[in-house]
This record gives sequence, C-alpha cells and structure tokens, in this order.
Amino acid sequence: MSKASIEGHAARFAPAPTLIDGKRNFVGMDMAEIKEALKALDIEPFRAKQIWSWVYCHGVKDFSKMSNLSKPVREKIGQHFFIGRPTVSAAQKSSDGTSKWLMKMFDGQEIECVHIPEEDRGALCVSSQVGCTNSCRFCHTGTQRLVRNLDASEIVMQVMQVRDELNEWPSTKEQRLLSNIVVMGMGEPLYNYDNVAKALKIIMDSEGIAIGKRRITLSTAGVVPMIKRCGEELGVNLAISLHAVTDELRSKIMPINKMYPIKELIKACKEYPGLSNARRITFEYVMLKGVNDSMADARALVRLLSGIHSKINLLPYNPWPGSPFECSDEETIQKFGDFVNAAGYASPVRTPRGRDIMAACGQLKSESQREKKKPHEKPENA
Ligand code: SAH
Repeated sequence: MSKASIEGHAARFAPAPTLIDGKRNFVGMDMAEIKEALKALDIEPFRAKQIWSWVYCHGVKDFSKMSNLSKPVREKIGQHFFIGRPTVSAAQKSSDGTSKWLMKMFDGQEIECVHIPEEDRGALCVSSQVGCTNSCRFCHTGTQRLVRNLDASEIVMQVMQVRDELNEWPSTKEQRLLSNIVVMGMGEPLYNYDNVAKALKIIMDSEGIAIGKRRITLSTAGVVPMIKRCGEELGVNLAISLHAVTDELRSKIMPINKMYPIKELIKACKEYPGLSNARRITFEYVMLKGVNDSMADARALVRLLSGIHSKINLLPYNPWPGSPFECSDEETIQKFGDFVNAAGYASPVRTPRGRDIMAACGQLKSESQREKKKPHEKPENA
C-alpha cells in the first residue's frame, strides 16, 4: 500500500464526528482546537490553559467544578461541550491483578483495554481501531471485521477512564500504576496514524495527562511507509510484530508481509530516528509450536537483527477458542530465549498475564459478542 492508499484506508474507516445532544466532546481536543472553540464563544484565550489542566491533569468531568472560571464562562462552555468517558460494558480482574475492560463508545462500538500492574508501575494496553484489517492468523482480533478507526478522543478516553478507575488523578500524583502505555490493543495504529498521533500528543503533554514518550510504546505489524514519520513526529518507542524470519512463513501468518516484506521492514527499522543502546526497537516474536520455534529460526532471527539496536520479546502464544496454533513447549521457549540472550538481545519472555481472563487481544470482545448472540444465530466469526 502506498502512502496515498494508507490515507484512503484511513478515510474509508474514519469515525463519524461525535455530537451528543448537539454538544462536542472536550476530550480529544488539542490546544489549538480549544483556543479556537473559546474564541468562537467569546471567552478569553488564556482560559484555554486552565480548562486543559482541569480536563487532562485533574480529570474533572464537569465544567461546574472548574473553580477558577466564572459561572457564566462555565455555563457557556457547558452548553456546547461535554467531558466524555466511554461506558464500561464489562470488566474483569485476573488473579494476578491484570484488569480488562470492554469499553463502549458513543455509537455503541466496543473496544478493549487491558491494564497490567507491577509493584510500583503498570502499563495500559490501548486499542486504536474497532477490529483490525491485518488478519494475522494467530490473532483473535484478526478474526473480527474492522468496523472503523477510533478517533483521538476515543483513544485518550481509554487512558482517562482507567485513571478514573485507579483513582490516579491528578497527573502529578507519584507512583502511578498507570505509568506506561502500550499501543498494542485492538487494531493497527499505523493505519490510523492521524488519530493515534493526535491522541498520543495529548497524552504526552507535560501539563496534562503527562505520560512521556519514553513511557509509550507503539506496536505495528509493519506498515513500513509510516514508521519513519512515527519516529520523527512522536518519538515513542517502537515495537515490531515480527513473528517469522522468512517471507514465506511471515506472509502465511501475517498477510501484511506480502505488501511490506521483511527486507523493507528491517530497512525502516534501521532508519528509525533516535535509536541507541539505551533506546532499542522491541521485536515481538510469538512462539508457535512447530511453526517458527526451531533453533534454525532462532539463529536466523539473530542474523536478521544484527546491526539494529534491538531487543527481542518472546511471546508465549495465547490460544483462543478455535485458534489454529498451539503455544511452543516451555522447554523450547527457554532454549530459544537462551540462544537470543547469549547473542546479546536481551530477551525477556513475556510472562503471560491475565490468562484466566483471556487478556490477549480481541478476546473479551469476542466473548461478549458470543454471549449476545441468540442461540439460533451463527457466530459472526465462525
Ligand atoms: N497491530 C499491532 C498491535 C496489536 S497486537 C501489531 O500487530 O503489532 C499486540 C501484539 O500481540 C502483537 O505482537 C501481536 O502479534 C501479538 N498477538 C496477537 N495475538 C496473539 C496471541 N494469540 N498470542 C500472543 N501474542 C499475540
């Protein structure tokens, strides 16, 4: 896909603008838009910073709580805007502390969001699309039809909703359990670049939600033409879903490889701005039994990544009902991991978290779709 057709893809799946009772969502607006909106309402421009801080730093959901604004100003804004949150349509908590939410957007579309806490920090995995067009064979989201892109507000609202849940406002609070963000939920973020970029810029702003670029990782299946721009404009950490070392296998399990083969992907990674020993690309590699987990694969992987500041993240395959693969044996994963480690690619095997709540991509959504189907209906993804 060329850059023009990536833009075409984004336009085809664009979200409809949200208006509720004629009001626009304040969440998702950037500073320029806020200033413009205030100007149209004849409110002094310096108010923009104050309102920004209430919404994005303090998590206030009601204009009437903005105590440094006069009542008429608060009322005027409240007549035209609301401060939105999605509706939580399902929530699950794993025995290991991992939480997963199914969040319903204003048009009824649902996406998922997973929080993985550690002792004094934690990452939130956010979605960028409703469904995904990548159709990776091992991924549950790939079995769902792409419905649409999320807009910037819907991406920012996932973070704000979880901040509410964890009671972690204002942003200046120390030792937050929502300290990092991984754009690794449903969807391909680089096919929805404009909305993802706008959302991440809002999230990174130090006067607002204040989760800095070093604490954000964007994962892509390899939309090559967008990788450089992502690095230059956002400067976030990059993760690449590699999963195979030959074009033959990668094209089979990840159809996107037919468009952007390994050689082009590796070239784009080598050119990713700002890489150093301290700042590496993460290559994700899902361990599929008998498919990509031989020692020959491990050797080829090390060869492929030589010369790139990188680390390898081995993901034990998370099976889902009806999935066509099995996870590699523990021993195989261990051997594979030891080999890439010895070759100098720090390779944490990602400990599966939240397995009891099926915290891997796309699983909560599909579960709830199944429950909603009447017994005589054929499941959508059968
Ligand atoms: N579309 C983006 C981000 C979403 S997926 C991407 O492809 O990178 C986040 C990661 O989970 C990807 O590396 C994906 O390949 C991996 N993944 C998907 N399904 C999985 C499963 N069932 N078990 C383990 N990892 C999976």
